[in-house]
Amino acid sequence: MRDPRYDILFQPLQIGPKTAKNRFYQVPHCNGGGYRDPSAVVEMRRTKAEGGWGVIFTEQTEIHPTSEITPFIEQHLWDDRDIPALARMADAMKSHGALAGIQLAYSGINGPNLYSREVPLAVSGGPILTFTSDPVQARTMDKSDIRDLRRWFRNAIRRSQTAGFDLICLYGAHGFGIFQHFLSRSTNLRTDEYGGSLENRARFIREVVEDAREETKGELAISLRLSLHEAGKLGFSNAEVRDFIAMHGDLPDIWDLAHGTWEQCSGTSRFKPEAAQEDLVRGIKALTAKPVVGVGRFTSPDEMVRQIRTGILDFIGAARPSIADPFLPLKIDQGRTEDIRECIGCNICVSGDMTHSISRCTQNPAFMEEWRKGWHPERPRPKGPSESILIVGAGPTGLEAAHQLGLRGYQVTLAEATKSLGGRVTLERKLPGLAAWGRVADYRTGQIAPMPNVQTYLDSRLTVEDVLNMGAQHIAIATGAQWRRDVIARLHLAPIPTDPAMPIWTPDDLMAGKGPSQGRVMLYDDDHFYLGSVLAELLVSRGCDVQFVTPAVKVAEWTENTLEQATIQRRLMEIGVTLHTSMAPERIGRTEVTLGCTWTGRETILPCDAVLMVTSRTPDDALYHALKTRKSEWQTHGITSIKRIGDAAAPGPIAWATYAGRRYAEELDQPDPGDTLSFRREIAELAPLQAYSFRNTPGGKRGADSPPLHGETHACGAARRGRHGESLTTPTRRPP
Ligand code: ADP
Ligand code: SF4
Repeated sequence: MRDPRYDILFQPLQIGPKTAKNRFYQVPHCNGGGYRDPSAVVEMRRTKAEGGWGVIFTEQTEIHPTSEITPFIEQHLWDDRDIPALARMADAMKSHGALAGIQLAYSGINGPNLYSREVPLAVSGGPILTFTSDPVQARTMDKSDIRDLRRWFRNAIRRSQTAGFDLICLYGAHGFGIFQHFLSRSTNLRTDEYGGSLENRARFIREVVEDAREETKGELAISLRLSLHEAGKLGFSNAEVRDFIAMHGDLPDIWDLAHGTWEQCSGTSRFKPEAAQEDLVRGIKALTAKPVVGVGRFTSPDEMVRQIRTGILDFIGAARPSIADPFLPLKIDQGRTEDIRECIGCNICVSGDMTHSISRCTQNPAFMEEWRKGWHPERPRPKGPSESILIVGAGPTGLEAAHQLGLRGYQVTLAEATKSLGGRVTLERKLPGLAAWGRVADYRTGQIAPMPNVQTYLDSRLTVEDVLNMGAQHIAIATGAQWRRDVIARLHLAPIPTDPAMPIWTPDDLMAGKGPSQGRVMLYDDDHFYLGSVLAELLVSRGCDVQFVTPAVKVAEWTENTLEQATIQRRLMEIGVTLHTSMAPERIGRTEVTLGCTWTGRETILPCDAVLMVTSRTPDDALYHALKTRKSEWQTHGITSIKRIGDAAAPGPIAWATYAGRRYAEELDQPDPGDTLSFRREIAELAPLQAYSFRNTPGGKRGADSPPLHGETHACGAARRGRHGESLTTPTRRPP
């Protein structure tokens, strides 16, 4: 039964011509799959529909080849042949009564067009502003280009309607969308009627919204997604955003407001709390009669209610909370708030897009595996013939495996050497800024606690004899890993000369409360993720003078992928950490470390009192290997299989551990795939070698946004045919 305090979250609400069934609004979010993995994205969005969201959006959908952001993989709506995949998406989104939205994007000064090789078109020309400083410039659109762009938006809007979407989102946020480029004086230097005054800079938006209403006969709702604040002297500041909304209060059917850059909007929990953009959005509702949606990594229903009752928002926008728990609305509706799998704000999901791979989620290992592996975020696979499983180690791997196996109905024994469940998470959650990571352990321990078929034993460091005599059929060794005490990682593949008089510490030591509390510490980071910088903060708080040495050109380099790098580097500089980039230790003496420049080899001496190595980890797999040497005894003890999983197999981030635990639980009693792939993938279908026919353009004529004249070679089978031959080219709605 729903708590009546949360009733307000379930009120139906009008968005222009459409009505959302509740206030849960999944804002557009990338997933690293996009046009390459259409079926995976469809099934991911379907789980959100099942989970009770009132509005569900696609990710950024590129409307024309003159603006694409390769190597990032988003959606395409370049011509009619993109409609079937998107129609399937819209169908999935609407399968449980949600409104289906599509975010239309033209990236202007942000699109390098590395794939289409078209000349980028921007509001005002100049170097393309990407994460990777591509050596490409855009040219300034002239009036005829602007007319073309309006028509391309019209075409995309018409195609979106044909595909069955209810809402169109015009993307002008995060510095990525052309609408923001028009509005901002830093990207709009025009002197014609599209530049200068705010009224002029808003002209293009007004025109496209008008076109959209005309094209859809007012049947689709229009959302305008804007940045709440763009920094910089000329940026589209929060004050100007308010002026714009006051002047154009009725322009879209809903205002979708997202803090400044993507880094600001999707800040990690280390740097941003829940509801972080509240100050920027407060008061905007009073400027418009149209509903307002905003984000804030909302996972607490009380906070959601507060946002609505205090008149800050009408809809609760969520990207990451909807990834971590696609069933968040339904759980609130059913009075099961303790079952919410709260987002931990780690941005591993973002890293899937940034690395152009496929997104994964630390908390929800089923994310993007719904189609690929048939995993479901809530529904367990039916139990197989086996009965009993022993899991050794209750870190994220062991906990996830125990939870899923428990749900499947097996008799599970979970043995943990220490006095608490959670493994590395129990330790890392105590580090500066990482408290929210504890949710990985809290969610799972909370879920397994009431399960009668899952027995948990603390303070139980199992030996080989213990394991053999436990009577379990299957054994999962999830014993984790230890940080190394030497330099071996990426740069150094062998140890370096080291004086035993120099105290050398590891992250495990510091997390156990040991290590230096004063003096000068050389922290060597060849891990490049978050931990080195977090431990630097810890050492500073203890009173140490921290000398941060890394062979990379910047600190915590991999956190570019979690959108944190700049914030981390700034934080370390602000708290007085001395940075030595492109440097690595070559010799460790009694009172100093000799550093070598990674470019020139030039050496410098760094006097210090202690060293902290943040290098790499060694699997804790001694138990596994000892059990293997006793394989001949397994049968006598009723043991069918022993596997090592998670960090005990290959150390990685926490998301890799929960995935490993889930995979073990999913695959138990499943047929071994042998040499075949363990997941489904979509394979591009070869296009016939024939001249391009213009049948897809209205009236059969070549339009300005038509594909190229010569033999078309789009291998677009990904959007045409699923793995089992189900044709995607047979849309339920045919283009007019
Ligand atoms: P992962 O990320 O793979 O879950 P962790 O290092 O977080 O790995 O967790 C591993 C857990 O296994 C730790 O809590 C550790 O105390 C526990 N462990 C290690 N060896 C044993 C053992 N022999 N018996 C029971 N628990 C163990
Ligand atoms: Fe949240 Fe991390 Fe999952 Fe992203 S990966 S949704 S930030 S828990």
